[in-house]
Amino acid sequence: MTLVSPDFQTHSARPDPAQTAQRWPPLTQSYAALGSDFSLPVAVTPLPDPVLVASSAEAAALVGLEPPRNAGEEHDWALAFGGHIEAIRGNSRATVYAGHQFGNWAGQLGDGRALLLGDWSDCRSEQRSDSIPSWEVQFKGSGLTPFSRMGDGWAVLRSSIREFLCSEAMAALGVPTTRALCLVGSSRPVRRERMETAAMLTRLSPSFVRFGHFEHFSYSGQTAQLRQLTDWIIARHCPQCAAAPQPALALLQWVVARTAALIAHWQSVGFVHGVMNTDNMSILGWTIDYGPFAFLDAYNPLHTPNTTDRGGRYAYGRQPAVAHWNLLALGQALLPLIDKPEHALEAVDAFRPQYVRAMQQQLAAKLGLEQPQPGDGDLFQELLDAMESNRSDWTRTFRLLSQLAANPQTEIPAGLATQFRHNPSRFTDWVAHYRARLRTEPRDDSARAKAMDAVNPAMVLRHHLAQAAIARAEEGDFAEVRQLLAALRHPFDAQTLPAHYTEPPADDAPPACLSCSS
Ligand code: AMP
Ligand code: MG
Repeated sequence: MTLVSPDFQTHSARPDPAQTAQRWPPLTQSYAALGSDFSLPVAVTPLPDPVLVASSAEAAALVGLEPPRNAGEEHDWALAFGGHIEAIRGNSRATVYAGHQFGNWAGQLGDGRALLLGDWSDCRSEQRSDSIPSWEVQFKGSGLTPFSRMGDGWAVLRSSIREFLCSEAMAALGVPTTRALCLVGSSRPVRRERMETAAMLTRLSPSFVRFGHFEHFSYSGQTAQLRQLTDWIIARHCPQCAAAPQPALALLQWVVARTAALIAHWQSVGFVHGVMNTDNMSILGWTIDYGPFAFLDAYNPLHTPNTTDRGGRYAYGRQPAVAHWNLLALGQALLPLIDKPEHALEAVDAFRPQYVRAMQQQLAAKLGLEQPQPGDGDLFQELLDAMESNRSDWTRTFRLLSQLAANPQTEIPAGLATQFRHNPSRFTDWVAHYRARLRTEPRDDSARAKAMDAVNPAMVLRHHLAQAAIARAEEGDFAEVRQLLAALRHPFDAQTLPAHYTEPPADDAPPACLSCSS
């Protein structure tokens, strides 16, 4: 099978007319070395009138870049990350993958509007337990590729701001995620439900490989390439799997464990991904491809912000089941490399207990319990039921819970009680149960409150906050995007956050209704 499409634009050898003072670190090419069955050279289509919307100093530090400090440097960044500088865009490639979308086999997909530029070295300075071989650098919204199908190759400013802010917000919450280095806007008109403008996001990740990459090679019968990709991922990301009797099975077990931890972490911060197709599942167990995502306001396990998902397949509470389903698809794709299907099935079925354990750990930490104990499952479920029947705000409620004293003679703080105003008795019953449980804990109220405030954020990227920043950015004013980013950096520090960033939306605020159109 050949991936080369003859009418496709590849790189020209013309020198780059745009020169800037900035010197960019050299990009190396690791994924490209896998060969032309895996990715194709495709030229970036530069953005007209590029302007830097925002950059992430923290993401820049990962790859040893200084964030822009003045208008001149911002212009350099806009040119570089708007696709005008040969040193950055010069070896861009589109990778091929496939996927199951909404439970159906979608066949070949691939990077329809993203391009891999190469790798930058990991420049994280502090001591880390995890090792990252390098950071792959990717443009999203850089024009047509052979995999664009019906798409136009562009990404609009609206959805790119959402992905930019949420990537960095999730990182600050401690949730594994691809990173967003910077966002560049432009004057190019793009048609979605309305006319919008194009933007280009530069993403960083140790790998942009998805479950769908494995599915592509497996279901198209390219077993040698499937093995090559498996060996490559193992060598880069989990070298310990190479020594296992069946490395592909060990890789599957590794992905299962990381995905179970990821989904529990998502749910703990009230995150709904919104479109968990297998092409949007990272082989690293990291969050990837922010589209119609949301953070819960009122707790409703069946909430999905994705209007395309009429059956609620990807609703908040279904995410564990869907992750398990997606892991089955990955396991199936790896079968040619695994001796017996039962072994793959066993590996995937380890998801459920691993997820349950991870979720219990998350909920225990959210409630200030040092370790989950047998019987805590009921305590957790009773709280969730009380929250659901009261439409309690997810983030607010957990944040306020640290103010509840263990002593049954003390009052329930008013702000907390307000979250349960519709059906208070369910909550007061639960409080009695919780206080009894707290008496078995060694920590006093203040030590417990401190621990709870370190895991229950005061602020998340609520839909209405993102919308306000988008509305101003669409008028050409990026100040709110930048302020929001600065606040999202410190989601646990209530004292430093502007109060309105920590508040749920007004009762009459429109709900988050997002299509996949981005
Ligand atoms: P997503 O739903 O964004 O994860 O995308 C699913 C598939 O559609 C991937 O292959 C994307 O590259 C492709 N795609 C999404 N939007 C566009 C677009 N505007 N132009 C080209 N391809 C796109
Ligand atoms: Mg995607």
